[in-house]
Amino acid sequence: MYTNDQDDTGVVFRKTTGHYIVHANGRDIDCVLSSLIHKQLIYPTADPTSLRHRVQDVREIDHVDPIAIGDRVRFTPFADAGQNRGMITEILPRLSKLSRPAYARAFEQVIASNVDLVLPVFAVAEPTPKWGLLDRYLVSAESSKLPVLIVITKLDLAWKNKSFASDLEAYRRAGYPIQLVSANTGMGIEDLKQTLQSKTSVLVGKSGVGKTSLLNAIQPGLGLRVKAVSNGEQGKGRHTTTHLEMFALDFGAAIIDTPGIREFGLWEVSGEELAYLFPEMSKFVGKCKFGLSCHHDTEPGCAIRQAVMAGEISPHRYKSYMNLRREL
Ligand code: GDP
Repeated sequence: MYTNDQDDTGVVFRKTTGHYIVHANGRDIDCVLSSLIHKQLIYPTADPTSLRHRVQDVREIDHVDPIAIGDRVRFTPFADAGQNRGMITEILPRLSKLSRPAYARAFEQVIASNVDLVLPVFAVAEPTPKWGLLDRYLVSAESSKLPVLIVITKLDLAWKNKSFASDLEAYRRAGYPIQLVSANTGMGIEDLKQTLQSKTSVLVGKSGVGKTSLLNAIQPGLGLRVKAVSNGEQGKGRHTTTHLEMFALDFGAAIIDTPGIREFGLWEVSGEELAYLFPEMSKFVGKCKFGLSCHHDTEPGCAIRQAVMAGEISPHRYKSYMNLRREL
């Protein structure tokens, strides 16, 4: 690639069509992408003679953007623009990525890269938690080998949800850490900040669960800044793209909200491996009468169904497994 002595490295905090805001040495650099990278990343195996024509077509589809929020990049600053503009010449290897399928499942959309922690956010009530959606987020994080902290907001409303403690027990037993918080009372906020310290975290959750209030409780004003980004995105009426942004937190951490992610399909998860992505099921895989070919559905001698009946796997988690399995 065209790297040279003046090249610098930074992290992509924000992007708009064709432009990437790279955070480097405390400054924001407005970068374009070298067209060579764009072609190489989208069509690594394409016939070089056909590249030009096909890349022009695909440029219209911005969810195949080869750069994700969180990417660490090398860039060449443009000397003639007060050093605040530049060109990205290389994407450094991703340490982790959270992806979903896009464009009729034909492409991988990297939602965020170099993430340390996934924070699925659900309210204890108003709205009533949809645990099936949590299971989907968890499988997605497991398939990316990313640690998770389940965040339950609006704890002051716990009295409105009688089954909440027993519902959460299934996740505790599966080994997932859970942080209970209330933006209204301040409960759990300091503990959450400590967990976020020195990490890049990505928030996933539906609107209304209290993410804006939570972010404001973590850092005053942050929720409103995040909301401005998400409202801007809705204003454009786009459905397939996401306008995510990474925010630096004052106490030495970064957070990415995912407002544009309305659907969360599973990328690169096969039906055969799905049970491995439910930690409490993985130890039973291979122990069924039909071994690894068991779908854990109606087959006789299924070790996973036996574990459900013995109370070792929650029926609700098993149901989520079957629902996701049908999708794959
Ligand atoms: P977002 O759409 O996920 O960003 O959610 P918001 O932060 O805008 O909150 C949605 C609604 O839930 C608002 O009416 C908030 O006042 C309310 N809310 C947020 N956090 C709490 C909380 O800790 N306790 C209670 N009782 N309500 C909350």
